[in-house]
Amino acid sequence: MTKILAISDVHGQENENLYTYLKNNEDIELVLILGDITDFGPLDFVETFINKVADCGVDVIAIPGNCDPNGICNAINDVSFCLHNNIIAYGDAILFGFGGSNPTPFDTPGEMDDDKIYRQVYDLLANYDYVYNAEVPKVKILVTHAPPFNTEADRVENGEHVGSPGILKSIHEFEPQINLCGHIHEAKSLSKIGKTTDVANPGMLRDNGAVLIDVKDGSNYDIDIISLDE
Ligand SMILES: [Zn+2]
Ligand SMILES: [Zn+2]
Repeated sequence: MTKILAISDVHGQENENLYTYLKNNEDIELVLILGDITDFGPLDFVETFINKVADCGVDVIAIPGNCDPNGICNAINDVSFCLHNNIIAYGDAILFGFGGSNPTPFDTPGEMDDDKIYRQVYDLLANYDYVYNAEVPKVKILVTHAPPFNTEADRVENGEHVGSPGILKSIHEFEPQINLCGHIHEAKSLSKIGKTTDVANPGMLRDNGAVLIDVKDGSNYDIDIISLDE
């Protein structure tokens, strides 16, 4: 059994409710941070924040967002583990990470061409099949900052979908059980792509959004959006 809490879009603002929640829920083993940890810097905040989360007795794994500056992966790796373009087995789950976002109108630091996102996420997920064997955990969690295109998780206020077509395509091809994403602050949601993939965007940390995943035995899991102030 593995309990994971995912939060996103911190933008340099801590939320005391997170620390209280972790202290009251000691069975949570891992906190995943889905990017936009800072608000275009400073990088010092990464160490301060991750250390405070880790002090609640959890492991911390993070990916960068498009609003994090250059050097963000090093800053994360100094105090925890940067999952960007990386795969790691964690308890009964296997985590695939990809930070940054497809292009936005705001010309932020962590943007890249959507074709490039597609190729890199494809390679990441394809690698899992390569190492697959019966001993490997079966709950595949794709951890991205950008949400997949045309879902509940990528809808901005005017109703337009602005997520990544490349991430959507990869999900269709590899059918991970879960995609955790952030980036679109107003699109806090839990929805489904096809029959296979739960897509969860916790919204901004300051709004108390989080995703709780309880992986039961390597193939069954529960997933919920929770509020850290409850
Ligand atoms: Zn953000
Ligand atoms: Zn973002």
